[in-house]
Amino acid sequence: MSVILIHSDRFAEHQTPPGHPERPERADVMDAVVNRWRKHGVDVVAPREATREQLARVHDPDYIRRISETIGRAKALDPDTYTSPESYEIALLAAGAAIDGVERVMGGSHTTAFALVRPPGHHAERDRAMGFCLFNNIAVAAAHARAQGAGKVAIVDYDVHHGNGTQHMFETDPHVLYISIHQSPYYPGTGAADETGRDRGQGFTINLPLEVGAVAEDYQRVFADVVVPVLKQFEPDLILVSAGFDAHERDPLGGMRLTTDAFAAMTMELRAVAEECCRGRLVAVTEGGYDLQAFAASLDAVIEAMNGPAAAPRWPSSGMESRRGRACVAAVRPALAAHWTL
Ligand SMILES: [Zn+2]
Repeated sequence: MSVILIHSDRFAEHQTPPGHPERPERADVMDAVVNRWRKHGVDVVAPREATREQLARVHDPDYIRRISETIGRAKALDPDTYTSPESYEIALLAAGAAIDGVERVMGGSHTTAFALVRPPGHHAERDRAMGFCLFNNIAVAAAHARAQGAGKVAIVDYDVHHGNGTQHMFETDPHVLYISIHQSPYYPGTGAADETGRDRGQGFTINLPLEVGAVAEDYQRVFADVVVPVLKQFEPDLILVSAGFDAHERDPLGGMRLTTDAFAAMTMELRAVAEECCRGRLVAVTEGGYDLQAFAASLDAVIEAMNGPAAAPRWPSSGMESRRGRACVAAVRPALAAHWTL
């Protein structure tokens, strides 16, 4: 029944320039959280490195080679994204941790798994590092689940930023449903309501752009009206979560107003769908979250929600009405009507 945590104490070895928000101290927060849960009897394992073959399911082989050539070097890959001498190896461990979570849950040893990793992944494109991300951990995990026999995989991404890389990797694939809830307009600029997938993947990309300032009631609205009904109709064999915590009210990058309890509520919503569709199988992988205190508290809340039996979601109340959530649902309904009953 209990969750398994996948984490390496090496994640601090991926260094970023001074003042960069995606800093090694985030790994120290993960270390402390994981150690506390380990003392409470929760299983913790260290990941293996992802193989080139596993990465090449979603990344261009030439791109993997280029990142491998940064071994031993500090290099700027884009205006926000840097390597240090160990970054390639640490990024392989991050992707490997996401893969390990899939294997534990698909193998049946655990119902839920949480990979606490850095660098994050959801902005990484097939052939390009971007937005602090080198390899797209959640996409590598989804492709691995498919390769291991999962017929349908759903990815739910509640990081405050749109996961452009994940969307692009699967936008023509009807077997991988991508649902993103994100602040809009905002970095990276993709994720409009009318981006719903291409070719055979039409309808299997779902973007839920929320205006800056959204509160728990807004997220609760889009979960109730779109996320949960679509997931139930899709009937995934596995649910993956891009668990970013930069929609927390304390976050210096995001402009949303979620409290820690909202992350627990979203986790419980997804566990309920997973119980109904796929024997509870849920794997979360960290993305952003740049206020260390909020990050620690949110990780704890999600681990607590993933550990033990699934229970009814308890959404916190901000005392505000769901104006942004209602506007979002109204904006996405027309684009999704051809594919889903909402
Ligand atoms: Zn983010």
